[in-house]
Amino acid sequence: MVRFTVLASGSKGNSTIVTGGHTRILVDAGLSCRELFRRMKLAGEDPATLDAIIITHEHSDHVSGLGVTARKLGIPVYITEPTHRAWIRWLSPRKQMTYAQWLEQCRQQAAARMAEADAPTAEDCDADEADETVDDLAAPADSDRAPESASKKRKPPAQKDPTALPSVQYFHAGKPLQIGDISISPFTIPHDAADPVGFVFQAEGVRMAFATDLGYIPPNVKAQLKSVDLLYLESNHDLEMLRDGPYPWSVKQRVLSRVGHLSNEACATYLETEYDGQAAYVVLGHLSESNNMPELARISAERALNGRASLLANRLLLAQQHEPLAAICF
Ligand SMILES: [Zn+2]
Ligand SMILES: [Zn+2]
Repeated sequence: MVRFTVLASGSKGNSTIVTGGHTRILVDAGLSCRELFRRMKLAGEDPATLDAIIITHEHSDHVSGLGVTARKLGIPVYITEPTHRAWIRWLSPRKQMTYAQWLEQCRQQAAARMAEADAPTAEDCDADEADETVDDLAAPADSDRAPESASKKRKPPAQKDPTALPSVQYFHAGKPLQIGDISISPFTIPHDAADPVGFVFQAEGVRMAFATDLGYIPPNVKAQLKSVDLLYLESNHDLEMLRDGPYPWSVKQRVLSRVGHLSNEACATYLETEYDGQAAYVVLGHLSESNNMPELARISAERALNGRASLLANRLLLAQQHEPLAAICF
């Protein structure tokens, strides 16, 4: 059984489960652990059967639940080394402090270590402590992600290392890897992160391409998107909505840049002129809530596909931010 289940897609969180043979992989963990588990339940997916997590890049809408989820499930995290380092830096913000403040911090850390030695060590997914120890405003985020409130605290801030992971497996863009029954080809995408990647997943002869968070589609990505059965492609913003929208000019420039996000128009141009029409499913993803509307993205892509008679069989779906998309099965 090959299955592709988008749990969330958009600037406020991204996560997908790819299933092939006996293997299940969580692609990105951009929601809290608790919310990821809730979505999995809604989508009929069992978190306990996940084998690994693989990460596209370190922006908070792709990793905000990574630490807690990986520790809760005790599964390995596949990530590139630059992305891992960037994630660690994000979770370990540097602060400027006086010598007296530094001494006080050392004293408090020593006291905390003493206290922790006596405390029980169980970690509860519900606590979502990683989300609360991070300053969301300081985190690298996709530009239309609104800062979230940290009002869910149920217990004192945990002193555990938020960067701890059960196991870290480095992979490299351009070098295929295998996780259980699923073959993965990671490829570089143009985006303003340390080492952002897209993937082609292959299992049981089914190929699924995964490409969101990219400013444009360069030749290396076009090559990866050929001959796939499922194409998950970004359709982030409507150009006019972005131009007329509420963002400061600098942010608009960033979204529009060649390391920003793919517009409805750029997505449609690709579908109309270069896409090979092989996919049974075309899934539009990472739609901006501020600068796009699902109907605009849909109309734009439908028009592009309908312009080519041979592509009428392609089924067009829209991944959503606030609820999972029904699992796509092959
Ligand atoms: Zn993103
Ligand atoms: Zn991003």
